[in-house]
Amino acid sequence: MKSTTHGERLIRLNRLGFVNCYLVREDDGFTLIDAAIGGCGKPIVQAAQTLGLPIVRIVLTHAHVDHVGALDELHELLPDVPVAITERDARFLSGDKSLDPDEPVDKLRGGYPIVKTRPTQLLHAGDHVGSLEVIATPGHTPGHASFLDRRDGTLIAGDAFQTLGGVAVSGTVKPLFPLPALATWHKASALESARKLRALAPSRLAVGHGRVLEQPLAAMDRAIAALARELKQAEPRQALSDNV
Ligand SMILES: [Zn+2]
Repeated sequence: MKSTTHGERLIRLNRLGFVNCYLVREDDGFTLIDAAIGGCGKPIVQAAQTLGLPIVRIVLTHAHVDHVGALDELHELLPDVPVAITERDARFLSGDKSLDPDEPVDKLRGGYPIVKTRPTQLLHAGDHVGSLEVIATPGHTPGHASFLDRRDGTLIAGDAFQTLGGVAVSGTVKPLFPLPALATWHKASALESARKLRALAPSRLAVGHGRVLEQPLAAMDRAIAALARELKQAEPRQALSDNV
């Protein structure tokens, strides 16, 4: 895995140029965010060892195959390390692809593999995992979560945003890297979640696909505006001018 450091606490691990997972430095060791793709288990553990700290918890942004692909490998290597995912996306890990009655009816897209590892912690909005606060960001998947490090404003947004092929909200097709958009369940929810993340005014944006952005607010604004235009849910000012 290729590793890059961003600020004092965030390390991006990249596989094949397009899959990221992250190590977040805590006082007691690393929190691993996401489990990349199959074959990454050992390289992830080795990367943490090289950096001198053990992985003490595993947290998943969502249940897609490029975020949980090495979960079983990691669990085998680190059997005592707790695994956390939202209660909603946890259902996918055991093969339950039903939607709840209050969820928008749309097609589940992307790969949702069944894994052997059972999560030990089911997350909800507002929970804390180490120093990270759980932000519910449904849209890309029904139970997608993002994680805000309140210590320095780093936001780990999973696939709620992408930066590979251009900065985009999940759902906007970027021709150079269309996979996150093609795997997105419900675009209008993804847009709402992107606005929620922008309102947190993060100082750094780390995503599942693409580079880490410093001072990302202007780029997030442009990405939100682009999807809003696509969905014809223009910002209020634009909506007004549309109606004139
Ligand atoms: Zn995804």
